[in-house]
Amino acid sequence: MEYRFLGKSGLKISALSLGSWVTFGDQIGEDVAAACMKAAWESGVNFFDTAEGYARGKAESMMGNILKKFGWKRSDLVISTKIFWGGNGPNDSGLSRKHILEGLTGSLNRLQLEYVDLVFCHRPDKDTPIEETVRAMTFLIDRGRALYWGTSEWSAEQIRMAHAIARSEKLIPPTMEQPQYNMFHRERVEDEYRRLYDEIGLGTTVWSPLASGFLSGKYLRGVPAGSRLSLKNYQWLKERFEGPEAEEKLGKVRKLGRVASELGVTLPQMALAWCLKNPHVSTVITGASRAEQVVENMKAVEVVKKLSTGVMAKIEKILGNKPQPEPDFRSW
Ligand code: NDP
Repeated sequence: MEYRFLGKSGLKISALSLGSWVTFGDQIGEDVAAACMKAAWESGVNFFDTAEGYARGKAESMMGNILKKFGWKRSDLVISTKIFWGGNGPNDSGLSRKHILEGLTGSLNRLQLEYVDLVFCHRPDKDTPIEETVRAMTFLIDRGRALYWGTSEWSAEQIRMAHAIARSEKLIPPTMEQPQYNMFHRERVEDEYRRLYDEIGLGTTVWSPLASGFLSGKYLRGVPAGSRLSLKNYQWLKERFEGPEAEEKLGKVRKLGRVASELGVTLPQMALAWCLKNPHVSTVITGASRAEQVVENMKAVEVVKKLSTGVMAKIEKILGNKPQPEPDFRSW
């Protein structure tokens, strides 16, 4: 395993990590989840991601039980959770000081931990002033209940604003962002955030690197039984992978599969390695419904070196979606 710094922080995080969305508590039981975490751990993964909203808290409870069962040394682990969707009451969601404090208390109880290493604001909250959120996060860190805080799917402008408030009010700024990033979803990481990596040393823990499994090639011949897009509760997700645009993407997946075969690797391994190739990615959070997938996916670390300039150019040609750099108007 390779370990990368989380942005400009001093924290080292495994370049590949494991998350619990869809799977823990909704799709798989504790035994399979434990087997997935064990396979990840044995490959050198130190970072496990969850959220208060995943399977309505069940994902955190499951992860907590598994961590306790294995008894891994706390200092060898990096655990994150995300706060935003905590329930149906008027104060059970969003980023108010009240929900952030109560939400994290609930998460820590379910995880059976004294602190999480990372806590994320799972989405921006248009109804809460950013200053209130920055203060609440600073409070949690000062009390030792989280070590670093970050955002998920915030715009570059919102992240900059949080930094400006933290600077002027002597509060703790966000360290990292959790955006979606994969071969089909590139704008934020490669374009919108591009100045933030140097300006504020932003780290990224990127999600859905296989676009919910679409980039594994498993959907080339329909939706296999038991796969994510076959799950009853996730039909809204399936709908995102239908229509002419999805058909076009499937054509690209087919071509990408050929490139992976030429390299002697699997398509999931190549798609994960492609994410790892980006130096602004601190960790790629993988997902798995079976331990075998984890074993296969973790080998992606070895595949990065196979992605030569020539291979990357071939992939780029198939994708045809590289975000364009800002024009240099001075040279006009
Ligand atoms: P992926 O896009 O990698 O999808 C993972 C799914 O793809 C698996 O559950 C499995 O589904 C399938 N899969 C994985 N490996 C293989 C393989 N080798 N061969 C075939 N199929 C495979 O990641 P996720 O969407 O799961 O996201 C990863 C993590 O990111 C989440 O667990 C969560 O922690 C985080 N996340 C954060 C979000 C945020 O808003 N901050 C949003 C979403 C995720 P199956 O077998 O069922 O088909």
